[in-house]
Amino acid sequence: MHSNEKKKKTGFARLLELSGRKKRKLIAACMLAVLSSAARMVPFFTIYGIVAMLISAHLDVRSVPQDRIMFLAAVTLVAVLIYGVCAYLSSALVHTAAYDIIFELRIKLMEKLAKIPSGFFSGTTQGAIKKIVSDDTEQIEVFVAHHICDIAAAVAMPVFTLLYLFIMDWRLALVTLVPIVISLCLLGVCLAKPDKAALQVEMHDAQEAMHGTIVEYIHGMSVIKVFNRTLQAFERYERDLNGFVNAVTKTAKANKKPMGAYYAFFGAQLMFLVPASLLIIPTAKSYIDFLPVVFLFFLVGGGLKEPLEDMMTMVISTGSITEGIKRIDHILYQEEIGEEGQGNPREYDVTFENVTFSYTEGTNAVENVSFHLPQGTITGLVGPSGGGKSTIAQLLLRFYETKAGSIRIGGVDIKEIPPSRLTGIVSYVFQDSFLFHDTVENNIRMGDKKSSKEKVIQAAKNAGIHDVIMALPKGYDTVIGEKNAYLSGGEKQRIAIARVFLKDTPIVILDEATAYADAENEAKIQAAFAGLAKNKTVLIIAHRLKTVEKANRILVMNKGELVGADTHEKLLTECAMYKDMVSANERRDKWTIKTGGVA
Ligand code: ADP
Repeated sequence: MHSNEKKKKTGFARLLELSGRKKRKLIAACMLAVLSSAARMVPFFTIYGIVAMLISAHLDVRSVPQDRIMFLAAVTLVAVLIYGVCAYLSSALVHTAAYDIIFELRIKLMEKLAKIPSGFFSGTTQGAIKKIVSDDTEQIEVFVAHHICDIAAAVAMPVFTLLYLFIMDWRLALVTLVPIVISLCLLGVCLAKPDKAALQVEMHDAQEAMHGTIVEYIHGMSVIKVFNRTLQAFERYERDLNGFVNAVTKTAKANKKPMGAYYAFFGAQLMFLVPASLLIIPTAKSYIDFLPVVFLFFLVGGGLKEPLEDMMTMVISTGSITEGIKRIDHILYQEEIGEEGQGNPREYDVTFENVTFSYTEGTNAVENVSFHLPQGTITGLVGPSGGGKSTIAQLLLRFYETKAGSIRIGGVDIKEIPPSRLTGIVSYVFQDSFLFHDTVENNIRMGDKKSSKEKVIQAAKNAGIHDVIMALPKGYDTVIGEKNAYLSGGEKQRIAIARVFLKDTPIVILDEATAYADAENEAKIQAAFAGLAKNKTVLIIAHRLKTVEKANRILVMNKGELVGADTHEKLLTECAMYKDMVSANERRDKWTIKTGGVA
């Protein structure tokens, strides 16, 4: 573990490590980029040669060596062609490499997200994850596709060009370097600022917060509409947008002077070359010899600027990219729920022994809870909202690790059971069933990818949803959410029940829905639940006590503690909380609206 920690690269080294996954393509692309840059510089020198010949023949226009001029013109044309072809091939190669890299990285991130404990997701908003998987990986594409080759070209070309310029006239070559050196110093000042990294962190944080609220805003759109709230009323959204604007403005303000001066000097070769040339002219052997050299420096001074500028742009953006990579690695280096366990239960009773768990330090969502669910029985789990019912279910699925105590299936601690095996033993019908934008058949098949169509149909029949599916425009091939193929909440839940029928696990957790309580749907869902529960260890999180009155046992949770565990009849006499809940339920079932108020 320790040696692994040591090997972890960060910053620019990590950026190259991630980019190095397509080494061969990238090396080929860089070589082509160097070649294209070399070819791009050739016209500067051939034009210089032509100008020099024209000037030296100024006294007799007929003495112009036309064949040599034509030769240089042909070289120019060939160089332009080589430049075009090499630049095209380099760009094509580097872009395919870049997209391959982000494709693999995104797959790796998605696979990782599936393996890390769900607790990670409660601390990280969906928007932040979206930003990391989508935007931060995109920055790597930008780096690979647009900067790696620039570095190769930017290092190789100025070196050769400067050497040539020094041979032509070392004084003007030095003058050409002056604005570049000044701007590099200014850039250094900007990059060395102690708060630079902090500003990048602030900007990424603000961006993640903004993405988070955008996702939340979209999810909450219906609520906003129902309550006729305006954008301004969605305060957090507005605040996070402003937070991002402020972070960007702060970074821009912190850099505006050195960066402004940097850009001004970087392109200011002529500002130095013109007066320097005027000063040097008196020392030149002849005006005719010197003029083409000055002309060459004027031309090449600008050409030198471009590759160096590309490199500087890359250096400037490295801060943001490395911060993005840090966040990508924050996901990639998360500890996974290990697959190393060897546990393979043969029995399917469930035991919670002194289980304690907390989402946040200091408050336990579940405290010292012990109970036993015998195989082949139905147990109800009731209690006021926030009592810890869903947490119990999620602990059994090992979405989170317990803080203390143990959870066992057939006597085997769930920490010893590899997660892939655990999901084959326990299934969970969520209250708010999630359906993917895919066909009904594939949505049911999530329960068991290899199932035949016949089995899918049988599962749908068992869940009482087959007729509804057949009434859809394309039956089982209907894509949910497309062309008016919508399902009600209760119908969605029955699709989720069909998934569990197909999966056919020995332990089932059902989260009974209250939201879809129209009489017809309710009866169908109850019938599906009853079918599903046969011969299995079943835990039903019940919001309406009537659902579990006949269960073998009912567990009553309140404020994270188990305050009762018995049959309905016994709890009525022995558990005050249960008795209160039953009376409250009865009152709720009886209430009607009368003129003058609620009775
Ligand atoms: P129930 O299902 O009985 O309504 P829960 O198990 O959802 O109760 O919640 C138990 C407690 O844990 C509550 O105080 C709730 O606020 C808290 N809680 C639930 N989920 C989270 C979470 N993801 N992060 C932090 N606290 C949570």
